[in-house]
Amino acid sequence: MRDDDIIGLVIALVIVVVMLAVYIALIVLGVTMAKRKNRSPHWMWFAIHPLGLLITLIVMACLSPLKRCPQCAQTTPMNARLCGICGYSFMGPVAFAPQQPLYIPPQRY
Ligand SMILES: [Zn+2]
Repeated sequence: MRDDDIIGLVIALVIVVVMLAVYIALIVLGVTMAKRKNRSPHWMWFAIHPLGLLITLIVMACLSPLKRCPQCAQTTPMNARLCGICGYSFMGPVAFAPQQPLYIPPQRY
């Protein structure tokens, strides 16, 4: 092997390693962004393809964050007043909340 070939090989190897590091850093950025917004980080599996990485990063940056319900741990939009799953009130106790169940089953004799 000539010296030029070895130098070219080293330069190509350095370029591949740098591109891989940037690619992995962008995936980590997407996962961090998803976790910060309470979105599923599994969306970043689309990053297996470079175009999927680009699209997922753009979508993840545009999505609004979600908040997590302290009672059932499901996610709801940030502006929600009640949890859509369990009915937990994010505004604190509500004055007009019914104390009795709305439906009273008929008595059977
Ligand atoms: Zn809930």
